[in-house]
Amino acid sequence: MVLFSGYCCPLAEIVNQGKLVSDEIIFNLLSKRLEAGEAKGESGFILDGFPRTVKQAEILEGVADIDLVVNLKLREDVLLEKCLGRRMCSQCGGNFNVASINVKGENGNPAISMAPLLPPSHCMSKLITRADDTEGSVLLISLIFLLLCLQSRPVEDFYRGQGKLLEFDLPGGIPESWPKLLEALNLDDYEEKQSAAA
Ligand SMILES: [Zn+2]
Repeated sequence: MVLFSGYCCPLAEIVNQGKLVSDEIIFNLLSKRLEAGEAKGESGFILDGFPRTVKQAEILEGVADIDLVVNLKLREDVLLEKCLGRRMCSQCGGNFNVASINVKGENGNPAISMAPLLPPSHCMSKLITRADDTEGSVLLISLIFLLLCLQSRPVEDFYRGQGKLLEFDLPGGIPESWPKLLEALNLDDYEEKQSAAA
């Protein structure tokens, strides 16, 4: 869902000036977008990566009914391995990933498998590591992840307390994760239900 479609100009101005968008502006835009959606007969919405703070979660209570919060989780070591596996073709500029993830399930943690995204054979000998993909910047990325994680924990607790938090450990890439996520949301037979109702 494109959350801010139709209201991009003032927001773009603020972002271009390097300022943070205030909660007031975010909720103003969000309410307008939700009202417009309701008027068009939309039956629901998904917010991606929002709310980020407990204060935002509390304000959101007065703006919309939140049914469920899904916490998508991926092990940090897998995330880093994927970061380190990124390659670029020096000729065509194509982006690939040579990391092949196969983590066995242990100590109650699920197994994770993510296939590499390999280039066509004519790009294979021209692969380079991008300048920003060094170990140093991966360390920086992991620090940023840690900070985001610390910041989001109170928000998780907020929704856990309301019984609305669904923890979901990503079992791999999109092909592995999507069916399992639908299953966890009891939506795995959604398309069948739709065609049966039609
Ligand atoms: Zn190429």
